[in-house]
Amino acid sequence: MIITNHKLAKEFAAFDEIRKSSGNFSRGLPDTIVIHYTAGAGAESSINTFKDTDVKASAHVVVDTDGKLTQLVPFHKIAWHAGKSAWLDRKGLNKYSIGIEIANAGRLEKSGNVWRSWFGKTYPEEEVVEAVHRNESEPSWWHRYTEEQISAVFELCKTLMKSYEIRFILGHEEISPGRKVDPGPAFPLEKLRERLLDADREEDEEDPAGKNIIKGIVDAGSLNIRSGPDTGHDTIAAPLSRNTDVAILDEQKGWYQVEVKMRGWVSKKFVKKVDSDKTT
Ligand SMILES: [Zn+2]
Repeated sequence: MIITNHKLAKEFAAFDEIRKSSGNFSRGLPDTIVIHYTAGAGAESSINTFKDTDVKASAHVVVDTDGKLTQLVPFHKIAWHAGKSAWLDRKGLNKYSIGIEIANAGRLEKSGNVWRSWFGKTYPEEEVVEAVHRNESEPSWWHRYTEEQISAVFELCKTLMKSYEIRFILGHEEISPGRKVDPGPAFPLEKLRERLLDADREEDEEDPAGKNIIKGIVDAGSLNIRSGPDTGHDTIAAPLSRNTDVAILDEQKGWYQVEVKMRGWVSKKFVKKVDSDKTT
C-alpha cells in the first residue's frame, strides 16, 4: 500500500472526488483516524451514496467485505463522515481526521434462528457477534467483520501512520457517543490502537533522554565490582574477567557504573569503551 500525493496509489477511485470533499477548503494534515461501519450490505451501495452529490456524506476510504479498499477523497481534504463530534478539546472531527468506512451491517436483531439487519437482510450465526457496546451495559448482536476487512484496516492505518503524524485512532462511537454506535464491539479497536499507537509510543520512550547505550569490555585479568565508586566500597560479586561485556550506565570520579548481570562500580581504567550503537 503506497500513498502518493495524499492518494493510495492503487485504491484511489478516479471520479470527481473534489465535489464530494470540501474541495479547496484546506486544513492541516490529518492526525486522527476515525473508524466507522457503513450500516449497509456491501461497499458498493455506500460508495454510490458517497458519490451522490446530493448526499452530504463522504468518507476517505471504504473497505469492502473482501478487504478491497476504495478511496473516495484525498487524505489532505476534508470528508464528511464524523458529523457532530468531539474529542478532548476538539469539536467537529472532520477537520482533523481521515474517515474509514467498513462495509458492515451493524447492530442486528435476533428473529428465530437468524439475525436481521435494520434493512431486512438476514445473517447466519457465524456472521454474528454477541457483545456489550462500550457505551452500553447490556449485550446485543453485531454483524461480524471479516478477517480480510480487519487486516485491510490494520494495514491501511499502518500505511497512513507512515505518511501522517497520526495521534488518535478513534471509533465514531467515541467522538459522537449517544448519537453513534459504530464501529461497535465487533471491531477490535483496542487491539488496533495497542498494536499501532502503543507500539509507536514505547519505541519513543525506550530512550527518553536520547542517550545512546554505551557498551564496554573488561580490559583487565580480573576486575572488582563494587557497590560504590571507590575502593572503600565492598565488592558485590566475584571479579569480572577479561573481555566481559558491560553496559556503562554512569561515570563518577574515575569509575563507571556498569551492568553485567548485576549492577556495581568498577575502576574505569580497566574498561575499554566499545563503539556505541543506538538501540532500536
Ligand atoms: Zn460513523
